[in-house]
Amino acid sequence: MTAYDYDLFVIGAGSGGVRAARLAALDGKRVAVAEEHRTGGTCVIRGCVPKKFMVMASDFAHQFQIAEGYGWTVPEPTFDWPRFIEAKDVEIARLSGIYAANLGKAGAELIHGRAVLKDAHTVEIVGKDRTYTAERILIATGGRPWVPPRLPGVEHAITSEQAFHLPELPKRILIAGGGYIAVEFAGIFAGLGVETTLIYRGPNILRGFDDDVRAHLAAEIEKRGVKVILGCQHDRLEKKATGVVNHLENGMALETDVVMFATGRIPYVKDLGLETAGVELTDDGAVKVDEFSRTTAENIWAIGDVTDRMNLTPVAIREAVAFHSTVFRDRPMKFDYEAVATAVFSQPPVGTVGLSEAEARRACGGGVDVYMTRFRPMKYAFTGSDERMLMKLVVDKESRRVVGVHIVGPDAPEIIQVAAIAVKAGLTKAQWDATCAVHPTVAEELVTMREPVRPQETTLG
Ligand code: NDP
Repeated sequence: MTAYDYDLFVIGAGSGGVRAARLAALDGKRVAVAEEHRTGGTCVIRGCVPKKFMVMASDFAHQFQIAEGYGWTVPEPTFDWPRFIEAKDVEIARLSGIYAANLGKAGAELIHGRAVLKDAHTVEIVGKDRTYTAERILIATGGRPWVPPRLPGVEHAITSEQAFHLPELPKRILIAGGGYIAVEFAGIFAGLGVETTLIYRGPNILRGFDDDVRAHLAAEIEKRGVKVILGCQHDRLEKKATGVVNHLENGMALETDVVMFATGRIPYVKDLGLETAGVELTDDGAVKVDEFSRTTAENIWAIGDVTDRMNLTPVAIREAVAFHSTVFRDRPMKFDYEAVATAVFSQPPVGTVGLSEAEARRACGGGVDVYMTRFRPMKYAFTGSDERMLMKLVVDKESRRVVGVHIVGPDAPEIIQVAAIAVKAGLTKAQWDATCAVHPTVAEELVTMREPVRPQETTLG
């Protein structure tokens, strides 16, 4: 028996923190988890889950259009934003409750309040005049939206956090940023009939993704009604009685009811007392960890977005599992960040795993073969829609392994999960081709592309 109150004290009850706490508690360890908001963290409360509900709510408008092509008469559909928000919030509250209940069932104690470190083994709950000691501490505080702090008028903009709770659906919105959140919310609002403008400073949205995906998606979201302005950013924002005027660097002034900044997220480390505990940060402000998630303080560990490694819920969960194995099972385990599939819930959505073509050209000494197809999904046959689906395989010429899969179109997030198994397993193009197609599906294209479209070096960036 140690002299500490707990074997493990977790700060943050999000996906990563809760998983680590439950695993340790199920091993019989004495575990506490402090959470200043609701249990569930970004993913459940203000991220993946409510976002996906919004994407699904918004997608109905598109489905109604398709239905008409199939002979349905769809009376003028109307959308009740407050009713949807209420339904969503009831479900989020239910899920948050499950997180709390699961902690209790595993035997971990949930402490409501903001925890700050007093030293490497002591945590104080702010405002409650209560301190706890723990042999080990796990920091899993996640991230927070970031907006350019010096931009004049930026206080008139919202972030994704407020977008989940707007009192009413705006008529006009401008979204700044070209990453996951910007693209996803642009699709949500455009689908719900909001006049939507996306402004991004770079040459095309989704920097870091495959260039064909970026070009394809930018064109498709415009077809769905998003006005995309590239190579441009804000000069200032001005509040007026009728809305907010977006003064852009190119001289344009565009008034909208709501302006949303989706310009990135930063690790949530503010006033955590990290320095008093000997926990150092990286130059980018993330908690510095080694490959086993140990910080610069010997008994303190950190996982998830606060470490800014790969900011995805399933990754935080795997980091939690690796932490538990390393620390409590005496089986050192590192999470393998290779070939982690990801989805952007844009409309149409994106699924991607492995290397982009540009990355593969740099990584594969012997060159790459690119297999790619663009086609109209069968579902749109009667709609007059010219929406196209993109499927792309990037193959290492020497090993013949499929090193990247990129999909834009219906069900891409579902398809990529399965494709990721093959990429992670290192299967070759011949093995993909030996797999018989499922017909008629869109996914069958993945095993029926026979001729590379780009065997040679191209000018693609
Ligand atoms: P991202 O880092 O993906 O994108 C931020 C965007 O803001 C980029 O386009 C960036 O431009 C732009 N930007 C940054 N600074 C400025 C500035 N000063 N002025 C104008 N534009 C700026 O962040 P998100 O907020 O979209 O998402 C955060 C993270 O959350 C993601 O990286 C992802 O890991 C995770 N996430 C995952 C989701 C999923 O799995 N579906 C969904 C949502 C979030 P540039 O590219 O030029 O730097």
